[in-house]
Parts: sequence; structure tokens; C-alpha cells
Amino acid sequence: MTRQLIAPVNFRRTLTRAVLLPSLLMVILSGALLSQVSYLLSVTRWVEYTDQIIARTYQTEKLIVDAETGLRGYLLTGETDFLQPYNQTELKINSSFNQLGRLISHNASQTRLLKEIHSNYDRWELYSRQLIRLRKNNENYQAYSINAQGKEMMDEIREQMALFIDIEQTLRSQRSKAAQNTTVAFVAISIALTLLLASLVAFFVRRQLMKLSEDYEKNLLVVTNQTEALQHSEARFRRLFESNLIGIIFSHLSGRITAANDAFLKIVGYPREDLVLGKLRWLEITPPEYIHLDEQAIVELKVSGVAPPFEKEYIRKDGSRVPILIGAALLEGSEQEAVCFVLELTESKAAEVEIRQLNETLEKRVAERTIKLEEANQELEAFSYSVSHDLRAPLRAMQGFSQALMEDYAEQFDSVGQEYARRIVAAAGRMELLIQDLLAYSRLSRAELQLRLVDLESVIEDVMTQLEVELREKQAEVVIEEPLPQVMGHRITLVQVVVNLLANAIKFVATGVKSKVRVYADERGSWVRLWIEDNGIGIAPDHQERIFRVFERLHGIETYPGTGIGLAIVRKGVERMGGRVGVESQLGQGSRFWVELPKGIKV
Ligand code: ADP
Repeated sequence: MTRQLIAPVNFRRTLTRAVLLPSLLMVILSGALLSQVSYLLSVTRWVEYTDQIIARTYQTEKLIVDAETGLRGYLLTGETDFLQPYNQTELKINSSFNQLGRLISHNASQTRLLKEIHSNYDRWELYSRQLIRLRKNNENYQAYSINAQGKEMMDEIREQMALFIDIEQTLRSQRSKAAQNTTVAFVAISIALTLLLASLVAFFVRRQLMKLSEDYEKNLLVVTNQTEALQHSEARFRRLFESNLIGIIFSHLSGRITAANDAFLKIVGYPREDLVLGKLRWLEITPPEYIHLDEQAIVELKVSGVAPPFEKEYIRKDGSRVPILIGAALLEGSEQEAVCFVLELTESKAAEVEIRQLNETLEKRVAERTIKLEEANQELEAFSYSVSHDLRAPLRAMQGFSQALMEDYAEQFDSVGQEYARRIVAAAGRMELLIQDLLAYSRLSRAELQLRLVDLESVIEDVMTQLEVELREKQAEVVIEEPLPQVMGHRITLVQVVVNLLANAIKFVATGVKSKVRVYADERGSWVRLWIEDNGIGIAPDHQERIFRVFERLHGIETYPGTGIGLAIVRKGVERMGGRVGVESQLGQGSRFWVELPKGIKV
């Protein structure tokens, strides 16, 4: 099973996740820290702000104190120089109060307190002006016991100022405390958040990296396996390439040969330099009459990736031609480059030519011999025909004279002489039969047989009529299983064939056994097989072939008379009708002779 490679897009996804989530968490952390910082800043700002208020309050208080001191100096000395700080305060005090008022505008109780101080000061100022005027006019300013009143006023202002500052100091220390707490909280939260985030990021990044490394390892394994398999197959192919058992080339469909082994170079007779210099192109070493085969192969390569082997020729470097067998396959992933094997056919072509020549000579010789054999056969058959024919005349004379001897001179012979004469008559009779059979056999070989549609039932009918006497004498029982089909044959020859088989069937039975014969037929495709089955003595398998030859007999003439030509006539007749003949038998178990002829076709 080949494991699938994990697609690079999955790697990218894992990597993006590994970067994206930590970045997101960092943003959240930054947001949280920012809000903390801004809160801390606002708290710190409040402390500074309170410092400003306090400073401004001190400045205002100082102006008031300066005014009072100046006033006192003037009142004591009457020198106007002492009034300078007083005048300065007069110039600045209102704006100082106003600035302070703006600074504490957010604080209603302090604003109220400030207003009271301001109005108290205004009252004091009014009173001080009066004193200054009295002093200027050299009137007795002390007579107006307003002096003490002034001190009271100033004391109240001072108390109020102290209260005001006290409140602001308290506020300041509260705000500073808050700032401290916030800083501590900020640091604690920052540390906690950072730790949490760091562990989250670490956990997540670890998980993603683990997955990444797992995927990577899986891919590495697949790639390693694939590389090993590739190396293995590459090594095997290299072995084949370098073994130089067959020519192998890598070529471009355009004609360029990119690589070739030594075997190929040897076939085409080119040195390797020619290949390296690009001088060896398959198109250029292919004779023009084979280009169409190459074009066909290219079409097949493009359609199925494989071009089945075909024969062609190459022109060798020396100009001679070399017959080859070539097959090709497109390289995987390429539409233009193919690997081809090239087998030199010079030797097999030569062998082919030799075989063809031998075959032709053999066929010629066989034909010549057949003709000679046929001629010899015909001569032999003609000779045996004429011999048989010519023998008949002297035989008849022999028969006639021996018959005459027996009839006319019987009383002049003693019993031995009479026996000799009887034997001469019997021998002549047998000779007559032999000659008849030989003549029938010869005729069958020479006659022109016209094949027609023959009805087997009528053939059997004729046979039964011809053998009527023998059948009756032997009290043979013949069962004919009708209907019998029609065959293509020669009626007279077929009757002769079946007569011989049926005669044998009732002849070759053991003594005392009543012969039983069964005649039937079956159809086998376009053939009809006629069977003649008997309950006779049977034939040992070893003899079943030879009994169809002329004069071949398995018994002496005394036991079973005959000429030994009957079955030869059967075979010759059947073969002349285009059929076959055979026997199935076991010694002592009866025989089944069969004749096979083409099935009858009505024309
Ligand atoms: P013939 O019958 O004149 O002897 P055939 O050529 O007809 O000659 O037969 C050759 C031999 O084949 C026979 O002599 C006999 O031995 C054997 N033969 C033929 N038909 C049968 C049969 N039906 N049963 C047993 N043997 C047979």
C-alpha cells in the first residue's frame, strides 16, 4: 500500500495556526496592558495635578503673607517702600486665586472653601486699604481697634489656607497610594497575564509544532519509501540498460536520441561520440519506407502510452541496413520522451529465410514423391487389376476342366483321385472369390465417385436383401434402430461397405453363439456416424489398425473363411467418399465398427 503524501497546503495551515493564535493572544495581552498603563498614567497624573494645586496654594498663601508683612512694615515705619510687596500681591492675588479655582474646579467642597478664603482676603484687603489711608494722612490708625480685627481676619485666612492644603495633601497621599496600588496590580496582572499567555502560546505552538513534525515525519517516511522504491527500480532498470542484452534508447519523439546503451550503438554501428554530439537521430537512420511505421507508433504512444513491437530497419553508419524489432513506451510524466528497446533481427531473419527455403524444398520434394507414389500406386493397381482380370480366364478353364473330370471321369478315379479333383474345384472357387474381391478393391480405387444425398435406411434395406441367405442360414438377429439420417455418399459403394461390415459381424462369432447385430446412427456436428455392433469374438486393441489393410486376417481360413480384403475395401470406399472408419472392441466382448460420413445436405 502506498501512503499518500500530506499536501503542502496542510503544512502551511498548521504553520499559520502556530503563528496566528500566538499573535492574536499577544494583541489581547497588549490591549490589556495598554488599558492598565493608561489607567496607571491617569492615576499618576492626578498625583502630579494635586502637587500643582498644593504648589499654587502655597504661592497664593505667600502672596497673602507678603502683603500682610508689607502692610505691617509700612504701618510701623510709614515708609512706602514697605508697601511694595503689598502692591505686588494686589496685582497678582486675583489671578492666583482664579488659577487655583480653575485647578480645583472638579472639587466642589474645595471650590467652596477657596471662595470663602478669597472673600475673606477681599475683606482683609478692604480693611488694609483703610489702614494705609489713615497712616498716609497721619491719622491715628491705631485708634480704630481695627488692628486686632485685621489679625483675626488674617488668622482665619491662614487657618482656611492650612485646611485647604491639608485636604489637598490628604488627596495627594490618597492618589499616590492609589498609584502605588495600581502599579503593583499592574505589575502583578502583567506578570500573570504574560505567564498565562506564554503558557497558552507555548502549549498551542507546541501542539502545532508536534503536529507539524508528525506530518513532516509521515511525509519523510513516504518520501523515503518512494525514494527507496525508485532507487530499486532504477537499479533494476540500470542493470537491464547496462547488461547490453538488448539495445535500449531514450529518445524524443522529434527524433533526438538522449541516451543509448552500447548494445544499441553496436546495432547501428555508431560510436558514442556521435551520440554525445547529437549526430545520432533515429529519424535520420530510418529508411524513408519505414517512416510511416514510426508515425503510427508515435500515434499509439500518444494515445495509450505504449507502442507494441514492430519490425523495421535502420541504416548503419557504414550505409548498410540492419533489420530490427522495436517497441516503445512513453516515460512517466512526459509526452515527448520515450524509452525504446531495439532487438537486432539479422540472425533470425537469416534463419527465417533459411527455414522458408528449406520448407519450399521440402514441400517440392514431398509433392514430387507424392506424384511418384501416386503413379506407382496407379501402376500397381492397374497391374493387379489386369493380373486379376487375366487370371480369370485360365482359372475358368481350370474350374471347367476339373468339373468335367469330376463329372465325366469319376468312375475311372479311385476315391483318392476323386478327393483331389474336389479339392481342385474348391481351391479354384476360393481363387475366384479372391480375384473378385481384388477386382472390387481395384475398381474402387480407380472409379470416379459422385457424392450424392443417400438415405441410410434404404442402404440398410439393400444390404439386408443382399445378405438375406447368410442371415437366414446363421439365424442372425439384426436390430436396426430407425430413423437413420441421410448422408453425403456414393450409394453403391456405401452398400458394399455396410455389406462387408454386416457380413463380418455375423461371421466372426464363437461357435454355438447366435449372432446379434445392432445397427444405429448418431449425429456429431456436421457428421453422421453409423454403428454396426456385434456380439462376436472381438478384436484385441493391438490388431485393430492392421485388419483394415489388404490380406490382413487374424484367423486361419478353416476357422473363419475369407480373403482378408473386406475391411480394406471398407476403408478405401469410405475414404473415397470423404469419410472415416474405425472400430471399438475388446477380445471376447464383441466389436463396434463405425463409419463416419458428412451429414446429408439437400441441394
Ligand atoms: P475377411 O473377413 O475376409 O477375413 P476382412 O478384411 O473383412 O477379411 O477382415 C479382416 C480380419 O478382421 C478378419 O479376418 C477378422 O480376423 C477380423 N474381423 C473383421 N471383422 C470382425 C468382427 N466383426 N469381429 C471380429 N473380428 C473381425
